[in-house]
Amino acid sequence: QSQELSQARIDYHVALQALQEHGTHMICTGKMHTDRICRFNYLCYCSEAEEFVFFHSNSSVMLPNLGSRRFQPALLDLSSVEDHNTQYFNFLELPAAALKFMPKPVFVPDVTLILNRFNPDNLMHVFHDDLLPVFYTMKQYSDFDDEARLVFMEGWGEGPHFDLYRLLSSKQPLLKEQLRNFGKLMCFTKSYVGLSKMTTWYQYGFVQPQGPKANILVSGNEIRQFARALMERMNITRAEDSERDEGSVEDEKEKGKKDDYIVVFSRSTTRLILNEAELIMALAQEFQMRVVTVSLEEQSFPSIVQVISGASMLVSMHGAQLITSLFLPRGAAVVELFPFAVNPEQYTPYKTLTSLPGMDLYYMTWRNTKEENTVTHPDRPWEQGGIAHLEKEEQERILASKDVPRHLCCRNPEWLFRIYQDTLVDIPTFLEVLKEGRKTRPSLRKTKPASTVHPGRVREPQCQTSVQTTNEAKLTVSWQIPWNLKYLKVREVKYEVWIQEQGENTYMPYILPQQNYTFSENIKPFTTYLVWVRCIFNKNLLGPFADVLMCRT
Ligand code: UDP
Repeated sequence: QSQELSQARIDYHVALQALQEHGTHMICTGKMHTDRICRFNYLCYCSEAEEFVFFHSNSSVMLPNLGSRRFQPALLDLSSVEDHNTQYFNFLELPAAALKFMPKPVFVPDVTLILNRFNPDNLMHVFHDDLLPVFYTMKQYSDFDDEARLVFMEGWGEGPHFDLYRLLSSKQPLLKEQLRNFGKLMCFTKSYVGLSKMTTWYQYGFVQPQGPKANILVSGNEIRQFARALMERMNITRAEDSERDEGSVEDEKEKGKKDDYIVVFSRSTTRLILNEAELIMALAQEFQMRVVTVSLEEQSFPSIVQVISGASMLVSMHGAQLITSLFLPRGAAVVELFPFAVNPEQYTPYKTLTSLPGMDLYYMTWRNTKEENTVTHPDRPWEQGGIAHLEKEEQERILASKDVPRHLCCRNPEWLFRIYQDTLVDIPTFLEVLKEGRKTRPSLRKTKPASTVHPGRVREPQCQTSVQTTNEAKLTVSWQIPWNLKYLKVREVKYEVWIQEQGENTYMPYILPQQNYTFSENIKPFTTYLVWVRCIFNKNLLGPFADVLMCRT
């Protein structure tokens, strides 16, 4: 800190003069507060008022200049959770001339990213809401490097996972409460405010019941690159990465067999597996593999990641610890266990993560359907699922219910009651899930990850028509291969042709292996047809349609 101050002092007069003359400069991306990130020169923070301050001068810039729409509801979201009313960012305005009457500013020379962590106590939230968004926000703006400064404005203490936040930059992240140590007025020479939401895949149910986000924009590739970067920074190397790339399937089998193992992620305080030893025995016997347990209460996070990054299977109760699936090697399986009366289909943050294209993980669930195998905790505090505080009738209703109905976040007592049950895992039904899984599981360990290169447009699409009789006609459509195909090895190339009679609102789709085709069925004379053609690689990689053809018979 003192070093920082002295460094700032070198340029102090230059900086102060720049602030007084030019004021604050802000340029943002994004049309809405929910997709906005702003870049500032000389954004200041007044710790007394706990407010950011924008200084106006003749040369200050504020884009977008929203006027009072800046408060409807806010300039931007300070966390990656969309439009949450406790996470809004705004600033106060002052003329730069007011600086004369204010405490001397302290300048922060580092490029700073200012954000809110959403729930730093919970590992899932730490990764999904904070670490991934910060990582990719920093990649988005080239001003950020290893020397970047993070400032967390949500107002919480460090929390149990602060070491993970420390991995994002070599400089110590600052908490809101620490800002006052820097003086009454602090000015960030260059800062960005807000987080990219591009990597988030889950919404927690504030306005509609929780579930995957409507428009997921991240793939397994970006998640895995983030995981690799984090592992490097934790000094973890996994042999697996290089081993699995080359070499024959048989080699790998040999190599793999010896140290294939299953990880059971155990929770030691709530939502317990009551017969963990039995579960471990069953797994070991069924798969003839070593079974290792890990828990956040007993191990350092890096040592857990080290273990998980080489595992063939991860078994765990539903819960934040399952976010560590993102460190599993490709081809591994995840088995998520759900307590009695909790429907796995309604709580899918880990299913969604593991099923992202390119994660190449295999996801399964087991659910306790036997009420006699659950242990409830009605007398605990409400946030751990206690229901003693509720009216007698409501308690009885909850106890009688066999399925938690859909609900909003975050304090639904029936949900909390059920999700904090302990469970005796029924071994036969559990093994049944695994056996079912093995049947349908694609042998990912043997196949290379699928290509994600999409076809270009087909080229030179053409049509020719001829009339046979008063009610018969032919339509011949031909095209050239997409430009990128000649550089690719593609297992299967197909073409899709859509034919629509002008003015009709339905069309006929055809899938063809060749580059031309003559259609005669359902083709009428003296009619105009609209024809679209696109290329498809390996059944599901769709290319764009070429410009529509107008074909008159
Ligand atoms: N946690 C844990 N062991 C436990 C209970 C919780 O390590 O026995 C961790 C959990 O992984 C999460 C945090 O404590 O990071 C909060 O747990 P909670 O049950 O509140 O959230 P959930 O796991 O349901 O997201």
